Amino acid sequence: MMDVIDISNHDRDFEFSAVRVDAAIFKASQGMHTPDKLFERHLANALDNGVTRLGAFHFADPSNTPAQDADLFLRKVRPYLDRLDGLVLDWEPVEAQQGNVAWCAEFVRIIKAEQPLPVDFYANYSVCDEFRWQPVRDHGCRLWLADYGANEPTGWKIPNTRTPSGWDGLLLGHQYTEHGRIGGYAGDLDLNRFFHWFNTDPPPPVEPPVRPRIEIPPLSPDDPAVDIELPGGARGLGCRCMAITLPLIEADMLARGLIRQNLDFFQWGYNRGRVRASADTHDKGGVADNGQWSPAQRQVWADWGTMPFPRTREFGWTEGEHLHVVWYGCPHQMESTAGQVRSGLAGRDGLKADSVRNFIKPTRTWQDAVRAYSAALPANPRPLHIDKDDIDMASIEELRQIVFEVVEGRLYAIVRDQAKEGARDALFTQYPKLPRGADNSTPYKDGTTSVAAEAQYDHFNKDLVLGAIRELRTEVTALRAEVARLRGGTLRAPDTF
Ligand SMILES: [Zn+2]
Ligand SMILES: [Zn+2]
Repeated sequence: MMDVIDISNHDRDFEFSAVRVDAAIFKASQGMHTPDKLFERHLANALDNGVTRLGAFHFADPSNTPAQDADLFLRKVRPYLDRLDGLVLDWEPVEAQQGNVAWCAEFVRIIKAEQPLPVDFYANYSVCDEFRWQPVRDHGCRLWLADYGANEPTGWKIPNTRTPSGWDGLLLGHQYTEHGRIGGYAGDLDLNRFFHWFNTDPPPPVEPPVRPRIEIPPLSPDDPAVDIELPGGARGLGCRCMAITLPLIEADMLARGLIRQNLDFFQWGYNRGRVRASADTHDKGGVADNGQWSPAQRQVWADWGTMPFPRTREFGWTEGEHLHVVWYGCPHQMESTAGQVRSGLAGRDGLKADSVRNFIKPTRTWQDAVRAYSAALPANPRPLHIDKDDIDMASIEELRQIVFEVVEGRLYAIVRDQAKEGARDALFTQYPKLPRGADNSTPYKDGTTSVAAEAQYDHFNKDLVLGAIRELRTEVTALRAEVARLRGGTLRAPDTF
């Protein structure tokens, strides 16, 4: 696994001595007339700083012929073929051209015929998933996938990777953000996790995320509201029923291709008196207004034990269109909301006049849906956590490990900065454990054990170290969310650990 950046002339001040990366991919050219002005400079700067795993990509312009684009790319990379490990076709054309598989296959064919390096393919998830790329795969292309999820600013991380159809076993790397923030560079970067590097083959299949068996805790009408945050980024107040089911529903919709990235909400629960058209049905839990209401989407809601009421033009609703979803089996609802479930199950619309409607409806409570799902999963000792009281030591330990990695990476960057002033040799001699110095369990030879203590030494710029530690807090927050997401529920770590 490698942390990889890709950069172009947009990343003007990028300096490899300041950052920690395992590898880099450079934009070499675009279309038939636009060489990347910083390609050579970035390449030389990487090599000067010991970053030797390198690749180059061409941003395609299918208004030219493949041969015209290939000509510029080849002229640009040919002098550096012995320094590069692989070449990539970057495919992000206008929508009308996105399915131009033949153009890509011909471009790859030409590049492969003209030089010895492997040639791979870059595109986003929906483009990969939607079109039939077999002619491109037939030329040996593997996939560098762009798939951003919520696309929030983030540091290096282990992304939640899904494979577009047809590309199983061919995933080279995953570009998970264009808003990457890493120490040593003041700006957005594209960050990637590579599972394999170009010239090693073949890549192993990506492990599907481990889904824990789901325990449903005892529920009571007195349970407090839960601040729910979904993997896709949606966030709001709900009850425990919602906290347990919504991540599953979102994942299910994604897996079926019914939503692109996340569930959208217009209104959550515990929203007393704010939306007149809702009367009091949103005053407590077991209810949410969703922005996606196709029949297929409503069927998924129903399968998970909720009653989805389409409040849309199609069904005569004259206010803002939405899907009013009510949990079947939830003890946290207003009586009016629970009444709507009974109405929906009886084939009625749950509105004041309670008109007859044959809406798609659930055949079981959400608890029964979750139990059926859970029973089909392999046994997993890790329970689902839904609030901070449930956090277990394994989660904390995992988080601690991640934080140490980040601290280590940051210290390494600082050491490299200091090295510019000639202090590195002295540092390594005096503190041989320094690059791993974030681990409190291994004291340095003078007995100091903490990162902050390191800042006391003259060799360090104290402000730089403390500044780096402060920056880490933002990353730790993001990492906590990531751990919570990996565990399949909303989890809040203690404020200190
Ligand atoms: Zn509603
Ligand atoms: Zn509930």
